Amino acid sequence: MDCFSTPNLLTVTQALQLLVDAMSPVKEIESISIADADKRIVAQDVVSPINVPQYDNSAMDGYALCDRGLSNCAQSQLLTQFKLVGESFAGRPFVGELAHGECIRIMTGAMIPVGTDAVIMQESTTVENQTVTIAKPVKLDANIRRAGEDIAQQQVVFTTGHRLNAIDIGLLASLGCSEVNVWRKLKIAILATGNELTYPGEPLAPGHIYETNSVVLQQLLMRFGAEVLSLGIIADDKAAIKEAFTQADAYADVVISSGGVSVGEADYTKTVLDEMGRTAFWKVAMKPGKPFAFGELPNSCFMGLPGNPVSASVTFHQLVLPALFRLAGATMPAPKTLTAITQTAIRKRPGRTDFQRGVWSVDASGQVIVTPLAAQGSGMLSSLSRANCFVVLAQDNNGHAAGDQVTISLFDDFLA
Ligand code: AMP
Ligand code: MG
Repeated sequence: MDCFSTPNLLTVTQALQLLVDAMSPVKEIESISIADADKRIVAQDVVSPINVPQYDNSAMDGYALCDRGLSNCAQSQLLTQFKLVGESFAGRPFVGELAHGECIRIMTGAMIPVGTDAVIMQESTTVENQTVTIAKPVKLDANIRRAGEDIAQQQVVFTTGHRLNAIDIGLLASLGCSEVNVWRKLKIAILATGNELTYPGEPLAPGHIYETNSVVLQQLLMRFGAEVLSLGIIADDKAAIKEAFTQADAYADVVISSGGVSVGEADYTKTVLDEMGRTAFWKVAMKPGKPFAFGELPNSCFMGLPGNPVSASVTFHQLVLPALFRLAGATMPAPKTLTAITQTAIRKRPGRTDFQRGVWSVDASGQVIVTPLAAQGSGMLSSLSRANCFVVLAQDNNGHAAGDQVTISLFDDFLA
C-alpha cells in the first residue's frame, strides 16, 4: 500500500504499518565510546572476544581439592583428608598443579588450579597441621564456575538492531570492549504552529495559551536518543511556515510539527508541504488523535501531529515513535498489555480505537484493576500526567460496565 494513495480513514494498525514501511533505516555506522552508548543501536553483531569468566574459578571461600576418585565414581574410596599445599586469591593465583590428595585454600573468584576436581566450602572443613578434613563428600565440579559459562568466546552477545542500556554497557565492558559500532543518531526537527502559542515564562495575552507540544516532544526525543533541533513556535502564516520547513529540512531526517492539521482551517501545513514536496493526509481512527499529516520534504520525511496536547503526545507515541525506531535501525518494543477489571463504567461509541488514560494497580486479592480517569479531554494533559496506562478499547467496542475485563497497555519508559 502506497502511503500517498491510501483511503482517508485508516485503522491504527494500518497507519502504523504505512509509517513503519515508509522508513528506510539509516546506513551510516559510527564507532563510539561505550560511555556514550546508552540508547544507541548496535550496527553490527557484537561477538565476545573472550570467555566470561576467562578462567575456571571458585564460587566459594573454601578449599580446591584433587580427588581422582570423584571422576571415577568410586564413592567408597573417596578421600576425606587432603594435604594443604598453597593458596589462591583473586588476582594472585596458585602456581602449579594439584596432585591426588592435595588441596589449596581458595577465595571466591580466585583461579582454580589444574587438577582441581571440586571446591568445598570452608564451613564443611576442619584444618589441623596442614591437613584439611572434609565432613561430607563433595560432588565432582562442585562450586566451580567454568570458563565461558556466562559468555563463551565468539558467542553473539548483541545482534544488530539491539538498543543498548546501562547493563548492556556493563556487559560490553566485561568483554573488554571500550568502543561499539552503532548506527548514527537520528536528527529530528520539531516545531509548533499556532498564533495563540506563548513560551512558558512569558506573559499570557488574552486568547493565548502556553506551548506544550514541542516541550513534550523535545523530552521524548531525548529519551529516544535523537539529536533534536527545536524551531519553537511558528505563526500560522504561510511564509513563516515555509521558512521553518526549509530550515528544518536542511537539518533533519524527520520534521515533526504540531497543530494546523485540522481540515478546513488555516491549512498552511498542507499547502506548504505540497509546494515543497508531497503530502498524504490521513484520518486515523483513533481517539485521542485527529487528522495526521505525513509527507516528504526535499531531504526529509514530515509528520504533522494534531495540536491538542494529549492527541499530539498519544499520536507521537503510537504512530511516530515506532517509525523512528525503524528509521534508527531498531524495532520499538511491543507495549506490555494486561487484562484488568475496570472499576467504573466506560462510555464509548464504535468507530475509533480509544486510548483512554487510566490508573492501574493490583488489589489485595492479586487482581489487576484499572480506573479510567474521569477527565478524558484531548486537551487535558493532566490526565496523561496522572495516568500509568492506556485502557485500549477496540474500534468496534461500544463501552463497558464496571467489573468488565478490559485490556490495558502499561506506560513504557517514554510515558512513565
Ligand atoms: P490545531 O490542531 O492547531 O487546531 O490545535 C488544536 C488545539 O490544540 C487548539 O486548542 C490549540 O490551541 C491547541 N494547541 C495547538 N498547538 C499547541 C501546542 N503546541 N501546545 C499546546 N496547545 C496547542
Ligand atoms: Mg492551530
